[in-house]
Amino acid sequence: MAGQNIGQPVLILPEGAFRSTGKDAMKANITAAKFVGEVVRTTLGPKGMDKMLVDDLGDITITNDGATIVDNMKVEHPAAKMMVEIAKTQDKEVGDGTTTVIVLASSLLDQSEKLLNSGIHPTVIIRGYTMAALQAQKILEKNAMNVTLADRDILEKIATTAMTGKGAGAAKTEIRKHCVTAVTNVAVKENGKVKVNQDDIRLVKKIGKSMAESELIEGVVIEKETLNIDMPKIINDAKIALLDAALEVKKTETDAKISIRDPSQMQKFLEQEENALKNMVDIVKKSGAKVLFCQKGIDDVAQYYLAKNNILAVRRVKKSDMEKLSKATDANIVSLIKDMSSDDLGFAGIVEQVKIAGDELVLVKKCKNPKAVSLLLRGGTEHVVDELERAIKDAIGGVASAIEIGRYLVGAGAIEIELSMGLENYAKTVGGREQLAISAFAEALEIVPKTLAESAGLDAIDTIVSLKEKHAKEKGGINFGVDVMNKKVDDMYEQGVFEPLKIKTQAITSATEAVEMILRIDDVVASSKKPMPPMPPGGGYGGGGMGGMEGMGGMGME
Ligand code: ADP
Ligand code: MG
Repeated sequence: MAGQNIGQPVLILPEGAFRSTGKDAMKANITAAKFVGEVVRTTLGPKGMDKMLVDDLGDITITNDGATIVDNMKVEHPAAKMMVEIAKTQDKEVGDGTTTVIVLASSLLDQSEKLLNSGIHPTVIIRGYTMAALQAQKILEKNAMNVTLADRDILEKIATTAMTGKGAGAAKTEIRKHCVTAVTNVAVKENGKVKVNQDDIRLVKKIGKSMAESELIEGVVIEKETLNIDMPKIINDAKIALLDAALEVKKTETDAKISIRDPSQMQKFLEQEENALKNMVDIVKKSGAKVLFCQKGIDDVAQYYLAKNNILAVRRVKKSDMEKLSKATDANIVSLIKDMSSDDLGFAGIVEQVKIAGDELVLVKKCKNPKAVSLLLRGGTEHVVDELERAIKDAIGGVASAIEIGRYLVGAGAIEIELSMGLENYAKTVGGREQLAISAFAEALEIVPKTLAESAGLDAIDTIVSLKEKHAKEKGGINFGVDVMNKKVDDMYEQGVFEPLKIKTQAITSATEAVEMILRIDDVVASSKKPMPPMPPGGGYGGGGMGGMEGMGGMGME
């Protein structure tokens, strides 16, 4: 039997599949992932540049936000996708630091490439990186300072750091204060721990006016109008009822017939219906409510009676908005109208109907202790408002994670220098080949101050040297970082460039994990159905542009 198949190819992989192994596979992966890092790197920090992204429909996004950029790049290479994933994780876990995590992973890969080239085995690098990442967490913890809900000044600085460079100067406006007020308002204590559900802060974008005129609504913005022109447009010290049943008379079932034999019966029937609706409105009125938000419909007749009683009513309010109204005003959502009583009502200092940018809105403002709040974002164009929204999300994420963990750090590259120097010392105690990997990890962290320096037009190497001098033990300048605004190395604690501890712990964890995963791969098998696009000019491993990232092509595989 043996030998029968000689001359026939043995097909293991389907036709059109590609395989690359060993160093080639690893290099291709590293190059693809590093490409993503190179794209976002120049956006890091307050002096970072913006990217203009044009999608396949020609829609334009102008942003400085790492997560948004990589999301819009639509990379297809699996290793590049990992970078997108870590940015998303960072966004979900912290809400800020997305550029940092990508830049850090990219820098770690850059360092591993050097180690690989000098013949260090990937498993050694992985071991060294794991040790370094663990030690880094300890150094971060040691350097972090405490912050609580009461430390408004520190929290405002954290918000400012998160927003600087995004949304064109948003950080200089009252908005940073709004972000802190919003987060501290919705923060709750659960088993002695502070928790912030960021969904309790609603961002409503309306084009027009200027960014500085953005408002914090200590309550809820309902994107609806009141029902009847005769209803009041504004109510002060408003008692609010929330109803998730319809203010309508139930329509008769299709098979239940009512036979009306003469006109007087018809009249009676209509009167009954009207009375039922009037009674419902009476219950609302008797409860003391001046405002009614109804999740379902409100019949015309009921509207008439509500208006007659000077009750401001809105119908078909979204369920999520009803829940926010309940949290903001402390009202119970009532499901049966007959059960409604004064105990169920909530309170808002002002409820008013307004028209903003052509849209009718009902603002529920000045709630007493609102557990849901809204930020009304303004700005001249859609792009401005969109970027402002991203800046605010970063600020809210930063402030929230600072108070949840209760720890913060000095940014501007100061903490990265502390980490780098701390890990360098640690490497010496470890010895062996792992020492080289730990040193490489230490050097990789310098990418943050280096990039900040470059963005400010400073020499990267000189800046690192002078930062290290300041940080050296005997001088005790652990808070020296890159003052990008004044183009010098300075004490950034004094300048109040603060970041939540979690930005850094999460960035290091995610970046290390992604890099280690990439370093473990020595075989790429792709069952691509797409034809391989030609290699980008200049060759390389897919670094020739986004076009070269399509499918598995452009990676220099045979
Ligand atoms: P990310 O998406 O990672 O948050 P950013 O573009 O927000 O990226 O840049 C964050 C970096 O900029 C952090 O290292 C932070 O410490 C630094 N940074 C923020 N504000 C300043 C400032 N005023 N001076 C120097 N560095 C700053
Ligand atoms: Mg940021």
